[in-house]
Amino acid sequence: MARKFFVGGNWKCNGTSDDVKKIVSMLNEAEVPPEDVVEVVVSPPYVFLPLVKSLLRSDFGVAAQNCWVRKGGAFTGEISAGMLVNLNIPWVILGHSERRLLLNESNEFVGDKVAYALSQGLKVIACVGETLEQRESGSTMAVVAAQTKSIAERVSNWDDIVLAYEPVWAIGTGKVATPAQAQEVHTELRKWLHDNTGPEVAASVRIIYGGSVNGNNCKELAAQPDVDGFLVGGASLKPEFIDIIEAST
Ligand code: PGA
Repeated sequence: MARKFFVGGNWKCNGTSDDVKKIVSMLNEAEVPPEDVVEVVVSPPYVFLPLVKSLLRSDFGVAAQNCWVRKGGAFTGEISAGMLVNLNIPWVILGHSERRLLLNESNEFVGDKVAYALSQGLKVIACVGETLEQRESGSTMAVVAAQTKSIAERVSNWDDIVLAYEPVWAIGTGKVATPAQAQEVHTELRKWLHDNTGPEVAASVRIIYGGSVNGNNCKELAAQPDVDGFLVGGASLKPEFIDIIEAST
């Protein structure tokens, strides 16, 4: 089954409403491959979601950067999956390494979030990835397998999951994984999915790469057979994001 190329823009905790309007205008004016060829989803900070949703072209999707692990209620500062559904936000990024590391989100907690978000009808960009220390000690695959297992244990239908491999040492550092390094982990992840969730899931789940993707390195990465797209941070705020959207074509 052909896996549609997926390009996500993770705006993180950046920008003002004026900045957001400028980025959306840039996106709205861009000539990009049609949505049945490349799926584009941008993820602004929570407070700008309604603004982006109202201004952004309809062939681009919108994602939240996080949501709460279960039904809303007395959880000050949190946003529930149900609220995102209510605002017609189709996607959510979960398990980003910045949250895993800075906010101590465990594999189990991320797995619970993914399962709950899916149960409410959201589509999920689920992030996994190793630190530099873990890579250097040879435990890359053990780390990403454990992160993926926490999701696989709680989820039976992977149709609405995109798996983002984002090595922590490559995020925001300008130190991109080589195409061979990305392909190696993506292949291993697909094999893990094959062995643990079955051949159909392994063949159909999109595994995207994130970590210092830019307009210069995107084409070579996109050419790797198991790189099904990107999750882009810094470069998603700049015009080169358009080049990244076009990387696979
Ligand atoms: P980066 O971030 O492209 O700025 O490295 C990627 C991400 O964190 O998703």
